[in-house]
Amino acid sequence: MSKIAAKEQNHDIDRNEAFEVIIIGSGPAGYTAGVYTSRAKLRTLIISGTLPGGQLMTTSEVENYPGFPNGIFGPELMMNMREQAERFGTVVVDDEVIRVDFSKRPFIVTTHSENYEAESVLICTGASPRKLGIEGEQQFAGRGVSYCATCDGPFFKGEDIVVVGGGDTALEEASFLTKFGKSVKIIHRRESLRGSKILQQKAFENPKIHFLWNSVVADIKGDKKIGTIVIKDINNGKQQIIQAGGLFVAIGHEPNTAIFKGQLEMDDKGYIILKSQTKTSVEGVFAAGDVHDYRYRQAVTAAGFGCMAALDVEKWLTERRHRN
Ligand code: NAP
Repeated sequence: MSKIAAKEQNHDIDRNEAFEVIIIGSGPAGYTAGVYTSRAKLRTLIISGTLPGGQLMTTSEVENYPGFPNGIFGPELMMNMREQAERFGTVVVDDEVIRVDFSKRPFIVTTHSENYEAESVLICTGASPRKLGIEGEQQFAGRGVSYCATCDGPFFKGEDIVVVGGGDTALEEASFLTKFGKSVKIIHRRESLRGSKILQQKAFENPKIHFLWNSVVADIKGDKKIGTIVIKDINNGKQQIIQAGGLFVAIGHEPNTAIFKGQLEMDDKGYIILKSQTKTSVEGVFAAGDVHDYRYRQAVTAAGFGCMAALDVEKWLTERRHRN
């Protein structure tokens, strides 16, 4: 999308002036940061990425975001956050960043259709679902293989469904999928779950949910869509074939940091390393949310990090102007 299209979308964009802050990513961290920086009268651009609103756009009800005693649907929460950021003057462009140049100032942020200049950049690109990496996964993606139960669950009415993973996501998605599926099998590579006790208990008590322990998916078979799945016992190598109309992969996430490789310090998993508070290894580049936080990964913590980073950006810009 061009700057002109962005102008039509909401606010005026001056072509000749660099943004004081460009926020890359539009999950809870990005939108919260936008609320704070634009409320502090900083010229703020959010480049939303391929899924405006981030991971919560593919979530059903969010029950643990404070302020909503009866819960709120993920997409509604994110639309509210976007509206709130725009209310204070944040410009939101629905485009994807394909390249950044942090080696010179102002920084250059390049999308599919435009180069933007920024005095500071705040990275809020989050993380994406991890893949199993087995044969058939790609072939049947969208034809039985899914990474989002809330998005695709209703398509699997009356089917035998398989969920892979042993964390909170797998447990939550399995419970949700029992609303649609005939049965739900959770395949987990160990014999104890990583997910929280309350979600474990809910899953154990659900008569539609069954567990296959110490097991992994070895192969996915089908024709136009998934038909069966080959499960391998990792202790004795024995394989069994089970019926499955749907396979939901819920094995965690990878940070979305490919475009920053070589420009910022990252750990061996690709998470951005923060040097102090929300500051990255490049002065003037900040990060907030799941892109650096592999521990908490909650909407509310991401929003909190977004707020912290916005305050750090504001302070850094003020100090820089006093210095120059
Ligand atoms: P996670 O906690 O990292 O769990 C990933 C699960 O997938 C683990 O059980 C792991 O097995 C398994 N796994 C990883 N790679 C695998 C592979 N290649 N093949 C088979 N299994 C594999 O990820 P998550 O469940 O997405 O949760 C992420 C974060 O979000 C967590 O902090 C979680 O608490 C939070 N979350 C919270 C809620 C909630 O509070 N309502 C809901 C969803 C997520 P091992 O256990 O053997 O490592």
